[in-house]
Amino acid sequence: MNLKKKVLSVSLSSMMALGAVTAVALPAGAVGNGPSAGNGSVQTSILHTYQSLVDYLKTQDAKQEAMELEVIGQTVKGRDIHMAKYISNPENPTILFLTQQHGNEQLTTEGALEFIKHLGTGKTSGVLDNVNILVIPMLNADGAMGDVDFSLVDYHADGDRHLTRYNANYVDLNREHAKETSDMEPEARALHENVFAKYDIDYMIDLHHQGTLSETEGELVSGSILYPTNPDVKPEVLEGSKKLGAVVYNALEEKGWGHIGKYRGGEGANIGRNGAAVRYDISTLLFEMRGMSDHFIESYALGQKSNGYLIKQTITTLDAAVRAIADDSIETMDTSFWDTLPYQTNRQNEEADE
Ligand SMILES: [Zn+2]
Repeated sequence: MNLKKKVLSVSLSSMMALGAVTAVALPAGAVGNGPSAGNGSVQTSILHTYQSLVDYLKTQDAKQEAMELEVIGQTVKGRDIHMAKYISNPENPTILFLTQQHGNEQLTTEGALEFIKHLGTGKTSGVLDNVNILVIPMLNADGAMGDVDFSLVDYHADGDRHLTRYNANYVDLNREHAKETSDMEPEARALHENVFAKYDIDYMIDLHHQGTLSETEGELVSGSILYPTNPDVKPEVLEGSKKLGAVVYNALEEKGWGHIGKYRGGEGANIGRNGAAVRYDISTLLFEMRGMSDHFIESYALGQKSNGYLIKQTITTLDAAVRAIADDSIETMDTSFWDTLPYQTNRQNEEADE
């Protein structure tokens, strides 16, 4: 035994004698995860788990008279998928906020939960009389919890779990939207049959996270936005989408810390942004915020030092959208900014998310 080991064993046994042995236990998941390349520590244990999200929603449901909590279906692994509803008058315009089709994109969910809490306070008083709001946080709960039928051993984040893009069957839910609903994965089917087809939805913001290295004009973006680009989208649906984008863009530019680019996304109706617009005439906006909560490619994940502004970006987006719909100012929005908004490019040719 060399001297170092001996010293360690002495100090360990003296700690045990003091009953402090748990203090030297390694945190779960710490072994084998390297540092995270300049993006700060990527720590998943600060995020809501599925169960803590459900508890949070039930607490808000009990507190808020205007809120109703609905289960719209189940995930592959049998988790209930929840939707928070605020419907004061069925005649009002209705907006849907959707988060975490991709399980490893969670800060938008954290922001959506905070927004739900705000709806129960005086901060948005009056708004709910004039707009109906549907919020589905964490559509892909199995992916968010890493409870999937494939290996996540290469994923980089530290914490008590890994989060993945795919559902438990290794399917990308945001490529399911052109199918017959009976052929869809259960999470997408719940969304189509029990939300898109059942409610008269006018607007949707589909919230995602992309990698960390997208930029416009030499500056990293805090997020990028895009309207539906499928050629079968009706002109008035597209116009509504562009107006919704204008509301969000203006609200974030005003804040000073937001730097928004134009996302380069595909035309396929299998993508939610396009599919919801083509099939249900919903004016949609894709919002791709910076940085994922976990990934097997290191540069995609973003550490917790950026969490605050990304959550704030989500809350600002949701708040601006409901206010503009409630007071009808969305109708007067100038959409010409879309013609000059620069497309984002990538510093390392990362693959796009959506
Ligand atoms: Zn995504």
